Amino acid sequence: MFDGPLNHSIIGRAQDKGIIETDVHNLRKWTHDKHQVTDDYPYGGGSGMVMKAEPFFEAVDELREKNKGAKVVLMTPQGEPFCDAKARKLAKLPGLIILCGRYEGVDERVRLIADMEISIGDYVLTGGELPAMVLIDAVARLNPGVVKEAESTAKDSHAENLLEHPHYTRPPEFMGKKVPDVLLSGDHGKIEKWRREQSIIRTAERRPDLITRANLTNSEKELARRVTEKNHD
Ligand code: SAM
Repeated sequence: MFDGPLNHSIIGRAQDKGIIETDVHNLRKWTHDKHQVTDDYPYGGGSGMVMKAEPFFEAVDELREKNKGAKVVLMTPQGEPFCDAKARKLAKLPGLIILCGRYEGVDERVRLIADMEISIGDYVLTGGELPAMVLIDAVARLNPGVVKEAESTAKDSHAENLLEHPHYTRPPEFMGKKVPDVLLSGDHGKIEKWRREQSIIRTAERRPDLITRANLTNSEKELARRVTEKNHD
């Protein structure tokens, strides 16, 4: 499951350059029975299987030893909601050991070895692999050198509690819709101003919850207030 997202495109190239390194481990490696069983029936009955605690404990013991300073993340829909600010904090750590569940989830005692529990959203997936890949991608791209221009992650949506301004490329007119004149003007001051305004308008329209947390000047707050009011009309 991990091969495509981790070994191709931007994340794959970052690994080739040695900027980041990922290792995928099969939990069965830390089982001791013939069939390498990692799940068992739930105490108390009910449907579904539960991932056993012992292999996780053994795996984390070994991986912590090899990855000094790494933090252990348990992927769970019951965890802290993942966001850009969290990704930026994780990107500063020396490493992450990410635990993925399956079936009904993991034995409750696995939580004892997790430094944090993270959810990628209020919905349930069949396993922790996709959530882990979402986390890896979001965190990896924040490492210097992974994305070409450092600026492009600093100005991305959510970096400053704002959504990014709209983008256009050629042709200058498509299906009767023209690229805004300012973007063709060559005036970088005007272009920056337009982009900032668009970002504020867009955030106020689509994510009023975010705009209240953004760092805005008084006139920008006034612009956001007008947009929000218009939206409520
Ligand atoms: N029975 C669990 C519950 O209701 O909380 C859900 C288990 S889910 C089917 C199986 C595994 O997928 C979880 O252990 C977790 O690792 C992963 N998972 C599913 N949804 C997730 C989400 N939104 N965020 C992070 N991990 C998730």
